[in-house]
Amino acid sequence: MGGVCGVTVPRLFLRNREDCLAHPAGFHGPGSAVSAAGRHPRLRPTSEAGPRPSHGEGRHGNGPVDLYSRAAGQPLARFMGGERDRVPVGVSVGIQPSIEQMVQTVLAFRDQGYPRIKIKIMPGRDLEVARAVREAIPGVPLQVDANSAYTLESALIFKQMDDLDLLLIEQPLGEDDLVDHSKLAPQLLTPLCLDESIHSLDHARWALELGACRIINIKPGRVSGLYEASRIHDYCFEQVVPVWCGGMLETGIGRAANVALATLPGFTLPGDISASDRYYEEDVTNEAFVLNSDGTLSVPNGPGLGVTVKNSALERFTLNEESFRVT
Ligand SMILES: [Mg+2]
Repeated sequence: MGGVCGVTVPRLFLRNREDCLAHPAGFHGPGSAVSAAGRHPRLRPTSEAGPRPSHGEGRHGNGPVDLYSRAAGQPLARFMGGERDRVPVGVSVGIQPSIEQMVQTVLAFRDQGYPRIKIKIMPGRDLEVARAVREAIPGVPLQVDANSAYTLESALIFKQMDDLDLLLIEQPLGEDDLVDHSKLAPQLLTPLCLDESIHSLDHARWALELGACRIINIKPGRVSGLYEASRIHDYCFEQVVPVWCGGMLETGIGRAANVALATLPGFTLPGDISASDRYYEEDVTNEAFVLNSDGTLSVPNGPGLGVTVKNSALERFTLNEESFRVT
């Protein structure tokens, strides 16, 4: 690869934030122009040159990381320093109309082979739902995600969840409520995990220094890409804080990036990196991620992301195109 590499990247019409993060090119944001900075000196984060843009404003994303690791002839996971061939995964189950339906949905995913279950909760659909699911799948790793739906006044609900042997409680309070999280966390035996509150390494450091959480969910799509994600991982690894990889409806390309990230040694909890058929009838990659019998996804071993674009599908889904030049 020469000093300048021209790439043309089809751009989908982005209907909302999650669509944006599911961009088929895996473009998650400006910081993600670089993966694993410090591991590869050519990859410099554009976010260091100015203010951090919000979700989806990036111009580079993870695409160049794919190019660089392809140029190096290495799978992205190896390029980033990961060593695993498979990564443990779980499934995230949204709010269901009834407790019975939640239990049935969870049992169906368990029967598909997902070894870890996450259920979404919200006020009015929390403790009873979690209790019913726990009774339905005793011994199966289970966690709940509140998506910032509560305030500190609801502390009792989370204290009562201490009886459910949960892996963690994810983001119970507001995105900006680090201080209140730090007041809630010591009241619970179950570890608190932060998701929406963590947009950068600084946020991770502040949260841990405040005692606002004991676990962090790292989503490349939320933290501007693989570069910042790997920095957060490295910091947490040094602090012996477990991390896991969250998902934001990525297509096969973004999913490949998440799988590569999850090969880093600090990702000791199963990620929300479900098989391709969890969200898409038809993906934009030729290769599908399939759940292995041991509850893992295999890490692609080809150069770069290790997946190839299914052009016929991409052409049908593409509404507009933009060209980028990587120097
Ligand atoms: Mg979450």
